[in-house]
Amino acid sequence: MTDFAQVPLPRPTALSQPFWDAANEGRLILQRCGACGVYRWTPQILCTACLSEEFSWEEVSGRGTLYSYTIVHRAPLAAFETPYVLATVELEEGPLMLTQIVESAHERLAVDAPVEVAFTRANEAINLYTFRLS
Ligand SMILES: [Zn+2]
Repeated sequence: MTDFAQVPLPRPTALSQPFWDAANEGRLILQRCGACGVYRWTPQILCTACLSEEFSWEEVSGRGTLYSYTIVHRAPLAAFETPYVLATVELEEGPLMLTQIVESAHERLAVDAPVEVAFTRANEAINLYTFRLS
């Protein structure tokens, strides 16, 4: 098991704190533009589609597809349990999220395979957004 006390973890900012607060409750939320309605990830001050500053945080489905992945056998730090699956997931709402695929047999991984969010608790403050095959 990965030793989360020994690996770099996300450091929430004023902008990203709502995301991490929701993740701690097992909910996946994203910013959604108040002008054009586009969802975005990672948290941004402006909409990357229309440059509007208006946004709200909205809970999303947690469903998507496997956009790309690689199986990591040599981790950058010994504290990471290997092998692990580093992936990009395309959410139903549109954004791509760099993440880890957990609880899934590696031989079942395939581009476009359906996935769902599965949080992985790192510590009291950080509940990492991971995904599994659905
Ligand atoms: Zn917009």
